[in-house]
Amino acid sequence: MALREVRELGDPILSKPCREVTEVTDRLKVLITDMIETMNAHEGVGLAAPQVGVLRRIVVIDVGDGPIVMINPRILEKSGEQTGPEGCLSVPGKYGTVTRPNYVKASYFDENMDEYEIEGEELLARAICHELDHLDGHMYTELAEGPLYTPEELQEMEEAKKDSTSEA
Ligand code: ZN
Repeated sequence: MALREVRELGDPILSKPCREVTEVTDRLKVLITDMIETMNAHEGVGLAAPQVGVLRRIVVIDVGDGPIVMINPRILEKSGEQTGPEGCLSVPGKYGTVTRPNYVKASYFDENMDEYEIEGEELLARAICHELDHLDGHMYTELAEGPLYTPEELQEMEEAKKDSTSEA
């Protein structure tokens, strides 16, 4: 197991589409283990293979319930809307406001190439959309409404929101 270098915004590999996985080779198993370790080391909720320089359709997601490995994932259904802050390990120290579906249903293959479906709401739905976009060479910065902000600015915004809610 090893940490992999996370590519940052501006690296051309992040704007390239990824190829489907046809067989989970030993090499790809090591990649998946490394992706989970790299995501955890950076306290991320997700990581896509191109972020560590590999153009294959693999993402890992962990919204706090343990890692989910999704190979060749596809969104089957989406509904609703959520608008909120979103970050990315490839855009360190920045957040942006992004509108995503509030619910998604997706299919994917696990490391044994067994097919599964997953339904997610809120953070999980956001994470699935964000990570799948990476596989097509897209970054959340393309969707962000207004300028990006720092963690400190995010905290101020959340506190301001909390204050206005408690006064309402
Ligand atoms: Zn990302």
